[in-house]
Amino acid sequence: MTNQDLLAVAKEFGSPVYVYDAEKIAFQYNRLKNAFSEVKDLRIHYAVKALSNISILKFLNSMGCGLDTVSVQEVMLGLKAGVDPKDIIYTPNGVSLEEIEEVVELGAQINIDNLSILEQFGAKHPEVPVCIRINPHILAGGNAKISVGHVDSKFGISIHQMPLLLRIVENTGMNINGIHMHTGSDILDIEVFLRASEILFDSAKNFKNLEFLDFGSGFKVPYTEGDIETDIEELGEKLTHRFHDFCKDYGRELTLVFEPGKFLVSEAGKFLAKVNVIKQTTSTVFAGVDTGFNHLIRPMFYGSHHDIHNISNPEGKQRFYSVVGYICETDTFANNRRIAEITEGDILAFSNAGAYSFSMASNFNSRFRPAEVLWYKDKAHLIRERETFEDLLRHQVIIDLGPPASE
Ligand SMILES: *Cc1c(COP(=O)(O)O)cnc(C)c1O
Repeated sequence: MTNQDLLAVAKEFGSPVYVYDAEKIAFQYNRLKNAFSEVKDLRIHYAVKALSNISILKFLNSMGCGLDTVSVQEVMLGLKAGVDPKDIIYTPNGVSLEEIEEVVELGAQINIDNLSILEQFGAKHPEVPVCIRINPHILAGGNAKISVGHVDSKFGISIHQMPLLLRIVENTGMNINGIHMHTGSDILDIEVFLRASEILFDSAKNFKNLEFLDFGSGFKVPYTEGDIETDIEELGEKLTHRFHDFCKDYGRELTLVFEPGKFLVSEAGKFLAKVNVIKQTTSTVFAGVDTGFNHLIRPMFYGSHHDIHNISNPEGKQRFYSVVGYICETDTFANNRRIAEITEGDILAFSNAGAYSFSMASNFNSRFRPAEVLWYKDKAHLIRERETFEDLLRHQVIIDLGPPASE
């Protein structure tokens, strides 16, 4: 997508607007597949929560990609997209037994991450195969907000509780068909990931009927030029080797599963916003845009970096701006960032806006959530309309209590 393409999208669909490059998504999918091409049975399950638009799910599924879901609603979105329930893994945490049972009815593979529900489920449905999420107690990335595998994490069953886990499995007679881990986002060090994998292999040895090993995700993508990223190719080489060894010892070829979200869609997304106002104070030049953390919360929520380009004036002289939103809260997208000279009305493009961007948008300040556009073969396809006032009113029940009675 060139700047001209993006400007044309902003012109046609208005701002703010999310734009996703389908070819970039396909590129990332194939890159991961190629990195593990030596694995006989590799399954990639896209983590729906990163970007849950049905057209994106359909596009990924058309390439053979399955889905990883964390709620019954995401499972339903996947089914709506035409995905075979057998290609959907359900990896919730802290949900009710009833929700898990609903998902079983829908036909997806379930994954259980705590002993209490495992025991209740196994007692009631010993015939339903279950995958187990373990917590390997390994911290993948440096950012505690997005790491989910360390000791105090609420995710997964602690490997130290393996004896208890095995007793539950034996007592209920349930069938464990997969072992899963997801150590969280931003794997910077492949050795750390491999160490966690060893723990997964170790845990897997306890179960005789496994069909797959699910290594989760957390691949780091670059956020700016020259930024570090997970070396997928190196990981592919090393993990494939270990996986083959494990399967030989185990006595059977297993399926290797990944469930990337960010890796597949982060870089494919651009978020376009218009500059409403340039506000010069004594110390700072603010560029106020027609959006805020209601539409893109990652910078404020995770402290994440999004490159920002002025696509209306890309060759302009570089100046320093603080890019801020229009929400009645401090919502700073970037502090004193070098950006090509901005004039009111210019369109700014935020990079890495594919993952956890639209999917975390809200109606705070009663703003409409933006439109989404899928860019494919040099054409813009609208895949979500901008909301309207009707959407804000939907489900509101307007009652009239009259004024409170006076004493
Ligand atoms: C969120 C999530 C993922 C995807 O993580 P990314 O960092 O976006 O790749 C994968 N698996 C599970 C269980 C998740 O909760």
